[in-house]
Amino acid sequence: MDDTKIKIALEAKRDELDALLDEAAADSAPVQLDQTQQGRLSRMDAMQHQAMAAETLRRRQRERSLIEAALQRLAAGEYGYCVTCGEAIGEARLALDPATPFCILHAR
Ligand SMILES: [Zn+2]
Repeated sequence: MDDTKIKIALEAKRDELDALLDEAAADSAPVQLDQTQQGRLSRMDAMQHQAMAAETLRRRQRERSLIEAALQRLAAGEYGYCVTCGEAIGEARLALDPATPFCILHAR
């Protein structure tokens, strides 16, 4: 894969996450326990739903910052090398997760 293709793929993924994050921001009102809401969801359900939404939001924000960092490494000519050891990251690994900053040894 050449840099341009990687950049386009990363930017597309980032834009997709931005759209999802915008949506989440518009939808992140605190749990409402007014009459209409209580008719459909119990308080427990509402809180569980909110916890799951918060987890999804965190995961997307983390993913977005990984993508942003990958774009910066790409611009700096450091893309595709592990940020821990500097070794080249395997192509199969990058194909699976283009934003990964780690080689297989330092992934965990
Ligand atoms: Zn490494």
